[in-house]
Amino acid sequence: MKIAVASGKGGTGKTTVSVNLYYFIAKFWNQNVQLVDCDVEEPNDAFFFINRKLERSKSVFQMIPEIDTDKCTFCKKCAEWCEFNSITIVPNLKFAEVNASLCHSCGACIAACDFGAIREKEIPLGVISSFDTGIGKGMTEGRLEVGSAMQTMLIKKLKKEVTEKDCITILDAPPGTSCPVVETVSESDFVILVSEPTPFGLHDLKITVDLLNQLDIPFGVIINKAGLGSDEVYSFLNEKKIELLGVIPFRREYAGLYSSGKILDNISKDTENIYIEIIKKIKSRV
Ligand code: SF4
Ligand code: SF4
Repeated sequence: MKIAVASGKGGTGKTTVSVNLYYFIAKFWNQNVQLVDCDVEEPNDAFFFINRKLERSKSVFQMIPEIDTDKCTFCKKCAEWCEFNSITIVPNLKFAEVNASLCHSCGACIAACDFGAIREKEIPLGVISSFDTGIGKGMTEGRLEVGSAMQTMLIKKLKKEVTEKDCITILDAPPGTSCPVVETVSESDFVILVSEPTPFGLHDLKITVDLLNQLDIPFGVIINKAGLGSDEVYSFLNEKKIELLGVIPFRREYAGLYSSGKILDNISKDTENIYIEIIKKIKSRV
């Protein structure tokens, strides 16, 4: 069972909710739960587990084509086949180059070249690491290579690495609504959207709701930092008949606990009860 946690807007508390859900699912529902941090540009779920132990870590790579200008006839067929405009061919200058930061490693250019002028080389994409957290089946994160823009490719590889069977998997998605989020939530059984009751929160929630409707994935909403902003977000949920899974009040002390990585050891009983109710609703939905 895969449950993705997404938010649209950054800073809504999506990571806190993901980590807390993982913790409470292990405590009150099923020890066979694992957490996967798909926010590969800035993975920070691991910071919540002070006593975590690194179990394994491996570098992953992206294949990038390289053009041999001795064999190349500068016919431009590869550039025409490339959907990502990654190839520049200037016949007059006998110039042929692949822009690695645009290349999606689809291999079309290699198939296109009739002269065997393209070979592939590996470039670093990132690192995938798994930790024993002492909770459930542990957590796994992807960490994108600095300078790489290929979040989606790394998330794909990260999801393939997570092979634990008979397990509830919590996928902490990156913020936004672009390809990395789509990759994270695709194939999920249920998506939890974390929003905040502010105009920005509502704006991005609407975009994410549209996205999930298009992907046809069931979802519910958690309002975090309740008590700030306005009630507009609740009116929107009512109007669209979207399930409100839970409401977590804003508390200043949580920000301090979050920044010191001690939030899991200091959860109040009333917050615990909110998560128990949320888990009951998720159980009934999946
Ligand atoms: S592998 Fe695909 S994306 Fe990369 S340069 Fe070739 S055609 Fe373009
Ligand atoms: S298709 Fe092959 S020969 Fe033609 S420009 Fe590309 S690399 Fe050169």
